[in-house]
Amino acid sequence: MDKGKISAKSLELEDNEIVCPSCNSILTLPEDMINDEIIQCPECYADFINPFVDNPKILICEYCGVAGLLPIGDENALTVECGECGQTINNTYSDRYIPIVCPFCKIQSYVLDEHKQERYLNCTSCGERFKNPLRN
Ligand SMILES: [Zn+2]
Ligand SMILES: [Zn+2]
Ligand SMILES: [Zn+2]
Repeated sequence: MDKGKISAKSLELEDNEIVCPSCNSILTLPEDMINDEIIQCPECYADFINPFVDNPKILICEYCGVAGLLPIGDENALTVECGECGQTINNTYSDRYIPIVCPFCKIQSYVLDEHKQERYLNCTSCGERFKNPLRN
């Protein structure tokens, strides 16, 4: 099945039906789960973000891959601890992280507020060094 077919099919879904991005099963979301930020697929047990919830503050742990919800009150903490594996992960929702796109690999990464006046930045994905576009 290609992706085009899946999205065409999703247009015919009922109000509370969603498609699991891992196994493509069509799931009916129970009323009491409509506002849950993370849904677990009963077929393949993959966690994914509930498309019915607007702007959930979800962080995906770069160590174990588990999606977790940012705890209320920790929105501006620089790092948070993964509830699954205990590793410290960057909280990119913090006001102190400024999104920046690497001119080499085009991947979005972040620069810390206190580093935004530095002349050069290193991309965290490809390691290339580039002129800081935020600097004035
Ligand atoms: Zn699934
Ligand atoms: Zn983890
Ligand atoms: Zn890069």
